[in-house]
Amino acid sequence: MDVIPLSQLRLGIQYCLIRVMISRVWEFRGKSDDEPVKHLDLVIIDEKKTSMYVEILADVIEILKTNLVEGRVVTIKKFIVHHARTLFKVVQHPYMIKLNRRTEITPVDPQPQNFPRHVYSLINFSDLDHYLNMTAQFLDVIGQVVAVSNVAAIKSFGKMQTKRIVKLKDLSGHIIELSLWGSRATEFQGDQIYEVGQKDAVIVLFVGTLWKSHRGETPFLSGTSACHWYINDESIPEIRNFYASLPNEVDPIEMLQLANSNNNQDEVRQKTLLELKDADPFEEKTNRFECTVTITRLTPNQKWFYPACQKCHSRTNLSGPTYTCTNKECSCTEMEYRYKLSLMGSDDTFELEFILFEQSSKFLAQMQLADDKMDIETMGDQTGSGVAGSKRPYDSTTEDSEDDDAALGTYGKRTKKQ
Ligand SMILES: [Zn+2]
Repeated sequence: MDVIPLSQLRLGIQYCLIRVMISRVWEFRGKSDDEPVKHLDLVIIDEKKTSMYVEILADVIEILKTNLVEGRVVTIKKFIVHHARTLFKVVQHPYMIKLNRRTEITPVDPQPQNFPRHVYSLINFSDLDHYLNMTAQFLDVIGQVVAVSNVAAIKSFGKMQTKRIVKLKDLSGHIIELSLWGSRATEFQGDQIYEVGQKDAVIVLFVGTLWKSHRGETPFLSGTSACHWYINDESIPEIRNFYASLPNEVDPIEMLQLANSNNNQDEVRQKTLLELKDADPFEEKTNRFECTVTITRLTPNQKWFYPACQKCHSRTNLSGPTYTCTNKECSCTEMEYRYKLSLMGSDDTFELEFILFEQSSKFLAQMQLADDKMDIETMGDQTGSGVAGSKRPYDSTTEDSEDDDAALGTYGKRTKKQ
């Protein structure tokens, strides 16, 4: 059977053979590392340096995983080619591959020499702001480690998560901060890097990160399950060149102390809906609550999306030829539609309206609609809008964890119902 280059794959069931390096493998578990694996993800690259994203659903992982080892060249046959996801792209290829229980993966023995291994598309630190809070694609960067922290347990949006900070400097002296979360925080060899970095430069190429800012604070790179790194790997030309461009003497790496969150801080309190209704919004503005409700209905006559500023996600209004963000401190003029689902929830004390934004909308809409045997076309019809085709809620379930809106929505928004 002939080997087909990845660039020549077409949509649909494939009977051909591909020969690829497994460049990266990671498990996607959703919002936190405690959840079961939802899918196993790969980045593969062929001899002609075309790379693709591959997804393996949970029920097939056990069958296929023996041969899915990073750094191994394999042949793969019996798979299906789909359109690439529109969000959280790891590589720029119009298609992606899904493997199934019939897929055959065979290691190439002996392993070919000089087969392409690493997949990345580097972005300069100075260009990161173009990608602020965007989820269309993951970002790859290279930098010299100037500081690294311990791993701390941090309370973030009501949930304890492990976190480590790494500070990176580019060749023009620009320093950015990168946060590694969950198992990525512990896997990063911080102590070793600190030690090596007392005498020598440590250059790291990070792939699979996002450039984020919460409420206008200093942006940082965020690395979760899709994040990988290559440290002082001289087989990567950009790392060699970076190293060669450094002065002979470099400053030793600094150790940062990241404190554990106080468990009482940012506490999420349980409330019934009646208690929530009676809470004073001025006094309780910064507090978080959790309530258990049954969703009774969608709020009638409410749109399920809104025109959002691409940068800060505030509502944006068309004024003349461009959009003006309603956040007075934001000058962004780009618009994207984001989800905003209004629904009524009740417990045995009261009924309140809840508004869910973006990721939590997607997550909940999927659950609810599946339960009710409705489909998203029904929602599309209700609004009569053209956005359903371009941003389908089911299109992008891969990385709920990447959007912190999810957690915000889960704890409910106090709303106008009297
Ligand atoms: Zn804005």
